[in-house]
Amino acid sequence: MLPLETKAELSPSAKASLLKVVDLGDFAQSRLPFERLALDLRNVTPRQLSESLLQLPWGAVMPPPGAAVASTLPVVHLRGAPGICKPGDVVELNPTGHKVAIRYRRGDAGNVLFATERCNSYCLMCSQPPREVEDNWRIQHLLELIELIDREEPSLAITGGEPTLLGQGLVDVVRKCATALPDTHVHILSNGRLRDPGLHAQFAGLHPNLSWGVPLYGDHYALHDYVVQSEGAFAQTLRGLYALDAAEQRVEIRVVLVRPTLERLVQLARYIWRNLPFVEHVALMGIEPIGFARAHQRELWADPADYRAVLAAAVETLAEGGISVSLYNLQLCTLDRSLWPYAVQSISPWKNDYLPACEACTVRRRCGGFFSWVTPAWTSRAVSPVLEP
Ligand code: SF4
Repeated sequence: MLPLETKAELSPSAKASLLKVVDLGDFAQSRLPFERLALDLRNVTPRQLSESLLQLPWGAVMPPPGAAVASTLPVVHLRGAPGICKPGDVVELNPTGHKVAIRYRRGDAGNVLFATERCNSYCLMCSQPPREVEDNWRIQHLLELIELIDREEPSLAITGGEPTLLGQGLVDVVRKCATALPDTHVHILSNGRLRDPGLHAQFAGLHPNLSWGVPLYGDHYALHDYVVQSEGAFAQTLRGLYALDAAEQRVEIRVVLVRPTLERLVQLARYIWRNLPFVEHVALMGIEPIGFARAHQRELWADPADYRAVLAAAVETLAEGGISVSLYNLQLCTLDRSLWPYAVQSISPWKNDYLPACEACTVRRRCGGFFSWVTPAWTSRAVSPVLEP
């Protein structure tokens, strides 16, 4: 697991800022102004340092270990693992906290644009418990971040909190992605609850590769409202889903496999197939054992070994209905073999780990493994190495 933040020593002239990390090769090709670049010289020998290069107006300079550089330069010395950041990444300097955060990692499949800490749902298993804070400043922050992300980036998720709470700000963020990252698949993770009737229509044709991931936890309002701990949420989410369809948006339904949802999972699959025919993909997801989930472990945890038959029936219902289906966050050894083709390595690399039992496993390279914060209470009794010839 590679952390997203590290301690750092920053010289007094290093300002709080978002910067694109470049080595000498990247710098030669970059169109960004010097002030938005952090020059990474950690792999250069001190003898190769050029004073005239260092004097350019860099946002930051990361010198080679042991090199003597002028104290007037905006120097950053990172602590922690050497691979914590590399050329192509985007970093945020925090001189007051003596930290550097990594806001984008080149080549990482799990990059996100974090929209807000606020949410209007209060899901039992929320991995990012919402906070009622004024954070509209994030809109401008995201607009600046998007400019620093590689144009070739294959995919980004816009997440939170609930991104639609940004209102027009979310439209602006997606529009910025359309300009700066037109080839990137942008996936908005939203609870889908329609509050502003005009909002969803504004996304029509806004970005050439935009989709939405919306959770639905039951085929009955009482079940969904209970899981998201918000009265009226089921009705609002359905209105939101139809509004997205009216705006010709691509929609994925996300179902976290927790005990209450599993009780009617097959009925939910049938409900999606019958009532939401525009849904292009359904993700059935193992729970992430963090945030609110920890406080509700007894209510939520179900061992995949105990719901194999239900899961297989739900997958079959969706697949036969012509809806693409994937299994996220589930380990191959806990699944019926017939479901292996649906299992996806979905956990972001920075929070993905394996257990000692996995060392001898011959399918480890294909298996999605675990969240780094998994504990025995969240581990299936079926976990054991698969020994294939
Ligand atoms: S033993 Fe580990 S690597 Fe192998 S299938 Fe199970 S969880 Fe995956």
